[in-house]
Amino acid sequence: MSRAKKILLIVLFLILLSQIPFAYRRYRLGRLNALIQMINSESRQLAQSRTRQSNDLSPYAEYKGVVHVHSFLGGHSAGTFQEILDGAIANQLDFVVMTEHVESQYDTSAMTLKGPRAGVLFINGNEVASKQGDRLLSIPGDVSLTSSSGVSTADVVANSRARNALSIIAYPEEFKSWSENVDGIEVYNVYTNARRINPLVALFDTVWSRRAFPALLFANYLQKPGLGLKKWDEILAGRRAVALAGNDSHSNVGLSLDDASGKQLVGLKLDPYETSFRLVRVHVLLPAQVEDSMEVRAQLDETSLLQAIRAGHCFIGFDLLGDTTNFRFEVRDSRGIQIQGDEVPLQSDTRLKILLPASSRLVLYRNGSVMLDETGVKEKEIPVVQAGIYRVEGYLPQLGKPFSEQPWIISNPIYIK
Ligand SMILES: [Zn+2]
Repeated sequence: MSRAKKILLIVLFLILLSQIPFAYRRYRLGRLNALIQMINSESRQLAQSRTRQSNDLSPYAEYKGVVHVHSFLGGHSAGTFQEILDGAIANQLDFVVMTEHVESQYDTSAMTLKGPRAGVLFINGNEVASKQGDRLLSIPGDVSLTSSSGVSTADVVANSRARNALSIIAYPEEFKSWSENVDGIEVYNVYTNARRINPLVALFDTVWSRRAFPALLFANYLQKPGLGLKKWDEILAGRRAVALAGNDSHSNVGLSLDDASGKQLVGLKLDPYETSFRLVRVHVLLPAQVEDSMEVRAQLDETSLLQAIRAGHCFIGFDLLGDTTNFRFEVRDSRGIQIQGDEVPLQSDTRLKILLPASSRLVLYRNGSVMLDETGVKEKEIPVVQAGIYRVEGYLPQLGKPFSEQPWIISNPIYIK
């Protein structure tokens, strides 16, 4: 055999060898997919049996949606309104909170999607980069955030408060003005997570797994938002703050080749809205009436949605790993039931009640420290003997590593005074 042939053979062998991990990752996603189907079927059964014993259910209606979405307005993104709407419908979302970048010459919040569209409620928020380099979501947005000379972090917070809008810290790893009295913090952001992906690994994963598992592919890269959670716990030591997850959907990662008329010749989009909206969602609870059919509904509109988020009546669900619908974190005493986000005085019979959508690992935090860590939990009642700020994370050990190490659910806190 000639020397050139030998080298060629060795190179081919090495290329083949380098693909083994990606073939394994493809197989692992297949197994993960099957496990997720089992979790979803378990949670459907559990939800049915809980509806039958309706004393287990508090009168709240649950709506799921996504926060932090960009369109072609305000640069960075090429996504159209129609693509966003199609993505929301495909994911059966109840709401989408748009957060358009502000522009100095025009008001992007006035131009973006707002109000109900095909059964999806849109809120017209803005993302603002302050003079200090902090980034905040102001929801809904406003023309007054559009300033050619730039606004300070304090301005954005005060402006939002004056308009009864929410101010939320985006990208906590870059945020500096921690003393500002914001309403909440985006503890997890898909874009921040995606930036840590090794491009070569992503390329081969795409080749091997994208066709079969376009959204689930992202499970390979999920990272627990350690810093976001730590910063949130630090804020909570001083005051209330709501935790949200941001999809930060841009629909701009990929490759596109257009002809002179703008007609697309080749198009490969790795982060279409439909995929992005599948990864993580904010589930919001609105006070509701239980009707004869045991169906609980409430009026979902801009006012009720923003009020519920401000109150912390919501949780983060990594629905990619299994539907988190029907997760409940409540506090009960002789006077009644309150939910996550609420503040209650400590009584002799105060107890926390946690209902998980499927059997999972429950981690309960008090003032930022783990108080309980238990596996195989569907529901749990815990007597409270100390005041504190209590919050819950749910995990799915049955998914195996590394997926079992990613939070499935992140609750908002119950404040026991
Ligand atoms: Zn953004």
